[in-house]
Amino acid sequence: MDNLISKSELIDWLNGKKYITVDETSDTMSEDFEKEHQWELSRNCFINDTIKYIQEMTAIEAGEWREEEFQSYIPVEYDDSGNLILHTYKTYRCNRCGRPRKNMQPYCNCGAKMSNYKKEDEDPTCDMKKAAMQQILLRKSMKEGE
Ligand SMILES: [Zn+2]
Repeated sequence: MDNLISKSELIDWLNGKKYITVDETSDTMSEDFEKEHQWELSRNCFINDTIKYIQEMTAIEAGEWREEEFQSYIPVEYDDSGNLILHTYKTYRCNRCGRPRKNMQPYCNCGAKMSNYKKEDEDPTCDMKKAAMQQILLRKSMKEGE
């Protein structure tokens, strides 16, 4: 899972890595000072370029899936005594737009990148596939053990 970082926090952090003893934007610097602090000036200029690049990057909204449970009589089924069976379902709701989904997806339809997306939750057949694979591996290891 990719971690999401805040653009402004990253820029603040980068600004904190600059040398405050030199001002790379100054045009009244003496030649000697400039030579003496070449390394610091160069580093500050590099950080400024990086910040400019980050500011130009398109920001992606960060969202989160909120797990919800609901109950329904659909599909209509009856137990042995003829009573309606109440089914419990799990859904995931986007905390930004409120759209519910059956499974977690890496992105919501509103464009938000979901920070708590997990691949296993995307595909409900995933557990079945894993179980089938475990069976195959178990059979294989039993054959090899003969
Ligand atoms: Zn959304």
